[in-house]
Amino acid sequence: MQTKISTKDKVICLIDNHYPNQAVNPPIYQNSIFHFDTIDDYIAYKKRELKSYCYTRGNNPTTEVLEHKLAQLDQGETCRVFSSGMGAISATLFALLNSGDHVLVINDIYGPTKEYLQVLAKFNISFDVISSFDTKNLTSFIKDNTRIIYTESPATMTFNVVDLRYIAEVAKSRNIYTVIDNTCMTPLLQKPLALGFDVAVYSLSKYTGGHSDVLAGAVVTSNQLLAKIDKEGFKLGGSVISPNDAFLLLRGLRTLPSRLETLANITQEVVSYLQSNNKVNAVLHPLAYNEEDRKLYQSQTTGITSLLSIKLTTNNTTQIKKFIDSLKTFSIAVSWGGFENLVMVQDISEFSKPQSENIIIRLALGLLDASTIIADLEQAFNQIEVL
Ligand SMILES: *Cc1c(COP(=O)(O)O)cnc(C)c1O
Repeated sequence: MQTKISTKDKVICLIDNHYPNQAVNPPIYQNSIFHFDTIDDYIAYKKRELKSYCYTRGNNPTTEVLEHKLAQLDQGETCRVFSSGMGAISATLFALLNSGDHVLVINDIYGPTKEYLQVLAKFNISFDVISSFDTKNLTSFIKDNTRIIYTESPATMTFNVVDLRYIAEVAKSRNIYTVIDNTCMTPLLQKPLALGFDVAVYSLSKYTGGHSDVLAGAVVTSNQLLAKIDKEGFKLGGSVISPNDAFLLLRGLRTLPSRLETLANITQEVVSYLQSNNKVNAVLHPLAYNEEDRKLYQSQTTGITSLLSIKLTTNNTTQIKKFIDSLKTFSIAVSWGGFENLVMVQDISEFSKPQSENIIIRLALGLLDASTIIADLEQAFNQIEVL
């Protein structure tokens, strides 16, 4: 599978030349407020007759540069950036749902998003989760009060893929909003709005930031839907990004295309190595899909990322812990998408058992050479026995 990022997208990420004083980067407007020359200007601003800035819990010129680039990358009408991915996700759900609504969740989604949906039960909002497999019978899971179909593809722990065009088509015919968490793919490798989705939500804390030093999120959608999300979820919700962090994300975008290309090459090599290793029972990654899933995946994406999971041949939890602890270039940490190798497991409760078949080890590959990563994995595998 080739990773192809279009020249158009590279230009959006890389080329800017319209800032004051011939600067190649936008200035950081580290302002909470902007003033007006006259009270009439302020009145005109409130009446939307004057395009101006007022307060950063609203619009900020540095953040706007980022929002504009993200909207273009996703081929969406507009974008709003938030102070975290959960800020963007919770604002979207809160704004688009009404009391009594139902959310149909497809695939394994980000855990805290499910927790947030549980919190919404206090507003009489319910949800069901169906697997990627059940998507084939999608219509049978839709209820009269289903307002949103929410998905993630591929899922960031199991890497199951779902048919995004089909989901969008079914939802559209029933006036149901479609929302996808596209964090893992970034708009460079998968463009959900072009596939028919209404809203793409992101954590920018992962690949987009790219250096494990910034938390942020984004919503890309139509002007009409953003108006509601912006008012109810953003301005009143208040998860506003600092202009300084918006600048860090613009910097992350400069290298995002080349980081993704490099990571794809590294991942090709590491996945082949893992697939040929007899201490690995399963590799979960698009490169390890069956024919059907590969075709589907390739029809809606233009590349792969460096996030993958493995299951070991051994079910002995002491041996599994030993493998993880033996890795030298991988830090045990949540999150991913930075420059570094990280390792995490899906469900720590499985470690309370002496044997478990259900431990999924997630590896986030960083920018070290594939040979260095493979050598590290190899020495860690050599520490364990298949019991
Ligand atoms: C990290 C993550 C989020 C949440 O983003 P934050 O920036 O941590 O709030 C949402 N979805 C996915 C898939 C993520 O990996």
